[in-house]
Amino acid sequence: MARYTGAVCRLCRREGMKLYLKGDRCYSDKCSVGRRAYAPGQHGMSRKKPSGYGMQLREKQKVKRVYGILENQFALYFEEAARQKGVTGENLLRLLELRLDNVVYRMGYGDSRKEARQLVRHGHFTVNGKKVDIPSYQVKLNDLIAVKEGSKKSEKFKALAEDAAVKTMPQWLTVNAEMGEARVVALPAREDIDIPIEEHLIVELYSR
Ligand code: SF4
Repeated sequence: MARYTGAVCRLCRREGMKLYLKGDRCYSDKCSVGRRAYAPGQHGMSRKKPSGYGMQLREKQKVKRVYGILENQFALYFEEAARQKGVTGENLLRLLELRLDNVVYRMGYGDSRKEARQLVRHGHFTVNGKKVDIPSYQVKLNDLIAVKEGSKKSEKFKALAEDAAVKTMPQWLTVNAEMGEARVVALPAREDIDIPIEEHLIVELYSR
């Protein structure tokens, strides 16, 4: 599938906020958002305040970029969120949180969602005992996500597991760091999703 392959720090500067796309660098003083706090490009410093439509569009772009989703796929997520009962914006964020690559990232494996996606693609994780290498796979309540037995022995995974053990986990996951596994014990609530997004603007955008 096509992916954005340009400089990811430009995306953060375009959105005017940290999207945490580069792992450790995002927490260091090398982060471009702090050093160059204006949009990229020739007219970056002279950009005006966006219109109502512009703000709605930017909110959608932020979510797409945080989760690494392309336009068509994002539209499908929105359709599904609108079909579900409840608040569409929250449904949308929940669907994205329950992607397998995001769950692996939330378990602490990988410094970024991009790295977690690669780990999933390379077949290092199982869901309920079966290998799943599809990053967009939707994890459900009570599913058990685990590092594949064969992968646990590699030096790379030993180091990843050590890193994961000291990271903060969301409340909807019960993580057994020693076993390299996590169970989905609740569906992510809005307050569990620590991304500063005004999802109602996305709903307004799609309602135009
Ligand atoms: Fe964004 Fe991270 Fe780059 Fe900072 S270092 S601009 S947070 S991707």
